[in-house]
Amino acid sequence: MSTQLSRNETAWWREADAKHHLHPFTDTKGLANEGGSRIITKAEGVWLTDSEGNRILDGMAGLWCVNMGYGRKELALAAYDQMLELPYYNTFFKTATPPSVELSEKLAKITPDGLNHVFYGSSGSDANDTIVRMVRHFWNLARKPTKKIFISRNNAYHGSTMAAASLGGMAAMHGQADLPLPGFEHVMQPYWFDLGGDLTPDELGLKAAEALENRILILGAQNVAAFIGEPVQGAGGVIIPPESYWPKVQEICRKYDILLIADEVICGFGRTGNWFGCETFGISPDIMPLAKGISSGYLPLSAVMVGERVAGTLIEDGGEFYHGFTYSGHPVCCAVALANIRLMEEENIVEKVRSKTGPYLQAKLNELADHPLVGEVRGVGFLGAIELAKDKATRARFADVGTTGALCKDYATGNGLIMRAVGDTLVVSPPLIMSKPEIDELFKRARLSLDMTAKDLGVM
Ligand SMILES: *Cc1c(COP(=O)(O)O)cnc(C)c1O
Repeated sequence: MSTQLSRNETAWWREADAKHHLHPFTDTKGLANEGGSRIITKAEGVWLTDSEGNRILDGMAGLWCVNMGYGRKELALAAYDQMLELPYYNTFFKTATPPSVELSEKLAKITPDGLNHVFYGSSGSDANDTIVRMVRHFWNLARKPTKKIFISRNNAYHGSTMAAASLGGMAAMHGQADLPLPGFEHVMQPYWFDLGGDLTPDELGLKAAEALENRILILGAQNVAAFIGEPVQGAGGVIIPPESYWPKVQEICRKYDILLIADEVICGFGRTGNWFGCETFGISPDIMPLAKGISSGYLPLSAVMVGERVAGTLIEDGGEFYHGFTYSGHPVCCAVALANIRLMEEENIVEKVRSKTGPYLQAKLNELADHPLVGEVRGVGFLGAIELAKDKATRARFADVGTTGALCKDYATGNGLIMRAVGDTLVVSPPLIMSKPEIDELFKRARLSLDMTAKDLGVM
């Protein structure tokens, strides 16, 4: 009787969902044809439960964000208490709230030296929109009004609004809305597996950095405002840049007086084994957008960290900055972010990822390297990528790129593991609280899914 009822509920949710709900990054008709959405009803730790009672290991921390895991009472109580105390007030009109102030001070403290000012929003996308407006305003104030162009990388992800999608380098996104907007340029990404050819990874890293310099020279440094990059490209397929890449990029930005923006929306808050990806890769950015892990995804929040050079000019010479969101500095979101950071500190989670669970996860990931379907594995901290390839030696892809990745990802879901497929690259980004036995379970299920895919392809 009760199982019957729960089935009815699932069927109802699926039907209503298909009828009324336009999902992000989803082929709505395709989803309906496949029987509709999986309805996630509950979660605890690193485990999701769906409406049919399946338990699924969350290898993606939601969407790269639930770093401290599900069911954290400290975060729920922080929201509850703040909602009763003061659920909302704006920060526009010469007002602030205690959580927005306390979080600003905390972020200035934990982010790399020199990033001492913060502008709040609700998403990584609006953080990047904010940066576009702020940087153009900055160069006007700095009396270099021709410096307006942003340079990014092919296959970068910086969000979904018009400006953020223009910063991004996703061809499919550009194709649907006549993007990028004017003033956004894209150069080669440091993706050795796909683009390296006969070069060593470090040679490819230098080649990708030189692509930036060449573009600057073509555009004229006097016209280029900033370069933006994720320390590790996340949505693009967990692309770990060769060691040669970031130091060279940084040198080029300094040489031509181009602001350097490190998009830390995924890498921030412990993902790479340091508080920020900048620390892992030796980057000193002028500006750093944060979101996702800042609140472990419990509430939407973003923060643009602004260095002294830009903030100083903005504050000294800028007058009013005509920019902001109703929810900039939302007190409940800020209170939850503060509680989240406190929890990270109490549990010493960054150190744990750096020296214990991160290396363990990487070792387990490396064990998949000899699988017949796997062309390469790579990772850092709690990020991992598994490249599926037809030929290990030549790194040749399977025909119809994306099909094999999707097949394997669907097997994984069936095996109770959420991974993500980016073309034929499977990626994982688990909650940072994942334990060693849970990591074992993740890779057991990943291997099983690879085996099932290999059998379908006749490789095993
Ligand atoms: C997710 C993401 C964004 C966009 O954040 P939203 O909160 O989805 O708007 C921006 N940059 C990077 C690197 C991201 O991974």
